[in-house]
Amino acid sequence: MKTIIEPFRIKVVEPIKMTTPQEREEALQKAGMNLFLVPAEEVLIDLLTDSGTGAMSSEQWAGIMRGDESYAGAKSYFRFEERLQEMTGFDHVLPTHQGRASERILFELVGGEGKVVPNNNHFDTTRANIEHSGASAVDLVVDEGKNPRDRSPFKGNLDVAKLERLFSEVGPERIPLVMITITNNSGGGQPVSLQNIRDVREVCRKHNKPLFLDACRFAENAYFIKLREPGQGDRSVAAITREMFGLADGATISAKKDGMVNIGGVLLLRDEELYRQAQNLLILTEGFPTYGGLAGRDLEAMAQGFEEVLHEDYLAYRLRSTEYLGVRLLDMGVQIVEPPGGHAIYIDAKSFCAHLPPEQFPGQSLVCALYRHGGIRSCEIGRVMFGENATMELVRMAIPRRVYTQSHVDYVIEVIGEVYERRQALKGLRMVYEPPALRHFTATFEEV
Ligand SMILES: *Cc1c(COP(=O)(O)O)cnc(C)c1O
Repeated sequence: MKTIIEPFRIKVVEPIKMTTPQEREEALQKAGMNLFLVPAEEVLIDLLTDSGTGAMSSEQWAGIMRGDESYAGAKSYFRFEERLQEMTGFDHVLPTHQGRASERILFELVGGEGKVVPNNNHFDTTRANIEHSGASAVDLVVDEGKNPRDRSPFKGNLDVAKLERLFSEVGPERIPLVMITITNNSGGGQPVSLQNIRDVREVCRKHNKPLFLDACRFAENAYFIKLREPGQGDRSVAAITREMFGLADGATISAKKDGMVNIGGVLLLRDEELYRQAQNLLILTEGFPTYGGLAGRDLEAMAQGFEEVLHEDYLAYRLRSTEYLGVRLLDMGVQIVEPPGGHAIYIDAKSFCAHLPPEQFPGQSLVCALYRHGGIRSCEIGRVMFGENATMELVRMAIPRRVYTQSHVDYVIEVIGEVYERRQALKGLRMVYEPPALRHFTATFEEV
């Protein structure tokens, strides 16, 4: 079959509100042209993020009812622990309320003044937690990963030569661990090969340093490995997943992505001493180690989500449906970051709005146009988010898991196509309110 269908049927529906162009214009003006400030109810198709926005299965909802809410030693915890042990091979499993809580605990223990933490690309909360500890975060993605038109299969790889250079420049004593983000979210959702994880592991072994995975989208990464890496095509995604985790000494996970839940996170550790210290910090700020800032029902939903995400018919649909959006945009002449990543499509706003200079926020202008024209919410990743440091002007359309059907995506394609035909009419923006930090969340704009 050529058509890859949604491998589920719909049992519960949530209406979405159709709005008139005038209603959207009002909502946009009220929000100072910042889509983070538009109420979700005024959005028709919400592609702001794939984090915590997925739909749970009937088995996950059943787990919600089964949740054991005992303070200590709840049955739900043991089910969660067993699932993660089986899936990853790690002995020590700590639940946290989300990914950044795992990061905060880890870097409070291994970070600190003068330390340097390499990664392919640090996600923004990872970088922020590292820097908060006093350490610095270094991005070492391969050069292909920085070129939106390069179609290499594993553009998320960490550059091993750059890593060796970093070890000799700053000295191993300042590097507490090496991290790899799978898939590379900040780098366009691009995958990392198994061979690259093995090569980085080898460098770590030589310098006697632990390797950690930021494993939010481990299942999407494993399926890319199955599809693209020589010799991996016949293996199960479960086996590839187990090998990826087996190469690491620890992992932080936001379960809001491939955990298929609306809230939750995990910290996985091998080292006994580090585990004890992490457990103590967990008790201090998250909760007792058998619930970690979550309810028993959340642990049930996670245990089930981590099982379902490895179903290969789900993963085939997931990657194919993201690719479908990307390929159709390319066919219309809309430049995107190629090849399509696992969880999102990134439009190159610099070429889309070639008539607008970067100072006039071409990405934000496009974000506003997609909302105005079709009620679609997307996210600027460029000048607004990174200021003068922005290397690209991108608009990210992240796809929530199991939420939208192909006809929703066809609608999105149609809206983008119509905006593209009239792209010359898009106006530049100026920022009228600029908050001191993380300005993309609350800044406001007006048209030039
Ligand atoms: C989402 C994400 C995080 C942080 O997880 P939260 O659950 O949002 O705290 C860390 N790393 C990557 C790669 C992510 O995508």
